[in-house]
Amino acid sequence: MKAFEEEAVGISSNERAQMIVARCREIARCTDVEGQTTRKFLAPSMHRVHTLVGGWMRAAGMSVRVDAAGNLRGVLAAVEPHAPRLLIGSHLDTIANAGAFDGVLGVVMGVALAEEMASAGAPLPFAIEVIGFSEEEGVRFGKPFLGSLALVGDLDAATLARTDREGITVAGAIRGFGLDPAELPAAAVDDSAVAYLEFHIEQGPVLESERLALGVADAIAGQTRMTLTFTGQANHAGTTPMGPLRRDALATAAQWVVEVERYANASDGLVATVGKVETGAGAGNVIAGEFIATLDVRHADDDARNAAIRHYLSYAKAAGAARSVSVSYTTSLDQAAVAMDKELTALLGDAVARTTGREPRFITSGAGHDAMIVARRVPSAMLFLRSPGGLSHHPDETVLPEDVAAADAAGVEFLRRLRDDGSVLERIGGAAPGRRHEGIHA
Ligand SMILES: [Zn+2]
Repeated sequence: MKAFEEEAVGISSNERAQMIVARCREIARCTDVEGQTTRKFLAPSMHRVHTLVGGWMRAAGMSVRVDAAGNLRGVLAAVEPHAPRLLIGSHLDTIANAGAFDGVLGVVMGVALAEEMASAGAPLPFAIEVIGFSEEEGVRFGKPFLGSLALVGDLDAATLARTDREGITVAGAIRGFGLDPAELPAAAVDDSAVAYLEFHIEQGPVLESERLALGVADAIAGQTRMTLTFTGQANHAGTTPMGPLRRDALATAAQWVVEVERYANASDGLVATVGKVETGAGAGNVIAGEFIATLDVRHADDDARNAAIRHYLSYAKAAGAARSVSVSYTTSLDQAAVAMDKELTALLGDAVARTTGREPRFITSGAGHDAMIVARRVPSAMLFLRSPGGLSHHPDETVLPEDVAAADAAGVEFLRRLRDDGSVLERIGGAAPGRRHEGIHA
């Protein structure tokens, strides 16, 4: 089989990287809000994105379809029809006034890799399916991952009944886009899908601070989001003496907020944030009777995250008890960490080492990604590209072309290894998590 190094393709890795960046910028011009990049789930601009990306897929020799969840899917056939399938993907939707690379880059890189494979001549022993997920950001329906949930057969009836601000349901949005929710079971992958690879911008400062182009995800952190309410007694700031007669909710909460930061600083891999606070009516000459604070805690290890939560709650109660302030809480999100597949991740790390000449940097993703949903059914791996300025979810979000070239080279090396050692995909596929056949629970 012919090697698929760059000379086989006819353009340099530099030119390929420039093309990938240019394609992302072209997609960014498909928007529903003039002057910015805003593309919600199945909004009209998504038709243009499908035409554009679908065109690149077809030109690479892929067969293209849009599934009933609005995911764009291009398949580069393998040498024989029942071969295993490698999925490469990310999302095509955006937040309001987004940058050009969050999500889109992973789809465009998948198409570029398929082009490279196709132009190398001989078909591969596995098929490549590039997926542009219709929804990941959760903007339109307040629930993220609609596209990848459909892929794993978990887009349930309650989700389909959710409504957006105009009162349109998810099922209605699907129909409005010209698709049929009854076809959703056909959007779910079957057992031929044995591995998933996602390229994504880091959306954080770690790689840049270490002057690294690439990072390999070892896990996607688990998350807990809570709201704590500190209840004391509002009273006169001048006539209520200091000491036990004062029930100051704000002073209690302030002590607790500092402890949230101190404990996380002292705990390896833990991030904890009080991002939003609110004090009842509030006045300069009144002791705060009530204080409401959010808490966001993330860690790759669920035990460490749960231990942190227990500490934060007991600390809040103890700080409250000292001032006769009661503390109550509600939990709005409690999501377990998702490990990436060990063998695929090691293989990706090797590919990075081989192509960059440096040991791979393994990194825990603090943000959620499609890979965390896909991993329910398909062993998954993720490669992060440095985010200049650590910036994302912003129109100035960008990538360096040399980092794109490095990611592309690592991707080619990863595919070469899968091609040359046929046992890898077989082994990974056989050990896939939660193999289920019931399809959608609609
Ligand atoms: Zn993203």
